[in-house]
This record gives sequence, structure tokens and C-alpha cells, in this order.
Amino acid sequence: NQGVAEGDPELARVLGGEMKRQQDQIELIASENIVSKAVLEAQGSVLTNKYAEGYPGKRYYGGCEVVDEAEAIAIERAKQLFGCEYANVQPHSGSQANQAVFMATLQPGDTFMGMDLASGGHLTHGKNVNQSGKWFRPVHYGVRSQDHLIDYDQAAEIALAEKPKVIIAGGSAYSRQIDFARFREIADSVGAILMCDIAHYAGLVAAGVYPSPFPHAHVVTTTTHKTLRGPRGGMVLTNDKKLAKKIDSAVFPGLQGGPLMHVIAGKAVAFGEALKPEFKTYAKQVIDNARALADSLQSAGFKIVSNGTDSHLMLVDLTPKGVNGADAETALERAGITTNKNGIPFDPLPPMQTSGLRVGSPAGTTRGFGVEEFRQIGAWIGEVLDGVAAGGDNTSVEAKVRGEVLELTKRFPIYR
Ligand code: PLP
Repeated sequence: NQGVAEGDPELARVLGGEMKRQQDQIELIASENIVSKAVLEAQGSVLTNKYAEGYPGKRYYGGCEVVDEAEAIAIERAKQLFGCEYANVQPHSGSQANQAVFMATLQPGDTFMGMDLASGGHLTHGKNVNQSGKWFRPVHYGVRSQDHLIDYDQAAEIALAEKPKVIIAGGSAYSRQIDFARFREIADSVGAILMCDIAHYAGLVAAGVYPSPFPHAHVVTTTTHKTLRGPRGGMVLTNDKKLAKKIDSAVFPGLQGGPLMHVIAGKAVAFGEALKPEFKTYAKQVIDNARALADSLQSAGFKIVSNGTDSHLMLVDLTPKGVNGADAETALERAGITTNKNGIPFDPLPPMQTSGLRVGSPAGTTRGFGVEEFRQIGAWIGEVLDGVAAGGDNTSVEAKVRGEVLELTKRFPIYR
């Protein structure tokens, strides 16, 4: 009964390689974070061995009395964090949390409304390649061309014309505060259910530094691994008892079989961490750092979509530099800075190229970077991408920045 190091050197090499990659690079992917050792430990625990179809106290398997406690703790902490009455912590991912709401509220062919992908929505909000777009009839609102803020008037008009049964507020690349109260008015005007997908903002919401979707939302979905800094997974929250019952049935047995009890234990640990005062300090720092990065990128000659951020993320418009998102992503990766190419609103370039980069501050903040470090990161991005824009060989610029990135990451080690 050996550990990975002795029993499987091939995989141990991979695990070590990924640890080194995370240690030595600057993680700017807005949807990623660095979980605590406690969350890692819970996920690597013996709870991975347990089947527990059903819910606490009502399982289809014996021997569930201990894992019942783990799930009950996760549920209680989730309710406390978000100030709501019901929580389902079983969805294996954010996508499955969204599917569960669809299953509980829509029939195939029904109309729902979400933000379009180009404006910052998510695939599961009705993209044609996703089940949400194939099995239902999505209609989309977007952002305004003049300021890249959500076009609430357009959303209200589309709702009146199309009568969606569900309206989704939330997205993956929208940096500004969302007016959940306004979305509730729009939903009420057509008798729709308001679903707020706070996957990206959940940690900020829990800490009180981003608006809460409650009491406006009928139902809230989220991932647990982004700003909330838990294990990879999903969750559904509501104050509506009838809806809660339908959602429970949709998650299990509607969509999933056995819940991942080790992940649910990891969620419980992460929610416990998020209830502590230090988490508020982290969340506030996440926003301060994102603003410092946005400022620094603007000083380096980039445009920031909507001209700034109220959250952990921003979209960098690369068009002033004449560099596309794909080239920027690979050049920055060579310099030790990990980002993802991302379309900007009204992007003329295709999704595999794009005119933008999405960057965010959660992972860097967790490892201890402050405003000064994020300003420096913005300057490095400028240096590397100015080199790409100039054409020719950028090797020496990328190598110089790579060296400086290594010095910084050594000063802020992870998993000491
Ligand atoms: N909803 C939003 C707004 C997201 O940003 C994401 C993930 O990026 C999801 C849902 C889906 O989460 P997952 O990747 O866990 O399926």
C-alpha cells in the first residue's frame, strides 16, 4: 500500500511537475485559485471511498452516518455564508449546478434568457454547442457598445418580447457589479424565475465586497473553486422551499449518481475558511489588487473593457497594441505569466484568436501578492507584449521577465 512517490514514479513526476509549474509562475487565470492544505487534505481523504446516493439521513447505501455529517456541515456553512435557507452542495461542477436548475424549471424547447458569450456570459447560458443551447431556446442580452456595461433596457425589452421562463444574471468575463435588483424587476415583469450564476463572484459575495444576489434571486448557482477558493465543484442555493425540492431531485437522481463525498468535505472546509475574518481581508485585497493591475495595464497602453473593474477580473483589450489574444497568451506563458485569451465585446476576431486577454487577481492574492506586486505584473505584461507588437525576436525580453517572475514567486512560495 504505497504512496504515489514509491508506487507510481511516472505519475509522481507529473504531480511534482505541476507543483513546480504552480510554484514558479504567476497565475492570472481569473477562475483559478490556490486552495489551502486543509482543502487538499479533505479531498485526498478516505471519504473518496464512500458511496452515498441520496441526501443526509435518506441514503440508498449503508454506512453513511459519518459522511452525512460532512454534508450537513457543508450545507449549514453554505447557508450561513450566503444568508439563505437551502443549499445543495452535491453538483460535481458549476455546469451541473446550472443543468440542475434547468432540469428543475424548464422543459426541452422552453425559452430562457442569459448574457451572450461575447459580452461575458458562460457556455452554459445558452451557447449553441452546449446542452443549454441545444435542448432549450436561449435568447440573449449583451453589453452596451459605448461603455461595455450590461444593457438592462435591452434585457427588459427582450424579456417582454420573448417571455423567457428563466432569466440568468451572471457571467465569466464581466468585471463590473451586476444589478441583481434590476434583473428581478425584469424577471417579475414577465413572471420569470431569476437565476443568478455567481460562479466567479461567490467568494467576493461571501465576504460582502460584491453585491449579494439574495434576496433578489429565486435561485443561485455557483462553482466552489474560483474566488470562493474551495475544491472544484458546484452548488445551488435558494430560499424557495418548493424549488429546493425540485433542485434536489434534479441533482440526484436527475443528473448525478453518487455524490463526491471527499469533495463535499473539501467544500465544508473551504466554507469554514470563508466564514473567518481573514477571508474578508483576502476578498478585499483581491479587488484592490485587480484595480492596481487594471491601472498598471492602462499605464502600459492597454485598454480595459468597461474602463476598469469592480471585481477580481478584467478583460484586457489588446487592439491598441495590434497583438491578438492567442499570441499574447503564449508569449506571456514563456515569460512565466499564465493568462487566457478571451473575446472582448464585439470582437472581430474568432474565438481561437481573440482581441483580448482575461486576467484576475485571486490566485496571486492568495499567495500573498499585494498592490505593489500587481502593478509590477502589469508592467511586465506591457514589456512582453510591446516586444511581440514590435515583431522580430522577443526571446531576450521574455527571458528577462521570466527571471524576474522567478525571483518574485520565490519570495511568495505556495504550500510551504
Ligand atoms: N458558470 C459560470 C459563470 C462560470 O464562469 C463557469 C466556469 O467557468 C461555470 C458556470 C461552469 O463551471 P464548471 O467549469 O465547474 O463546470
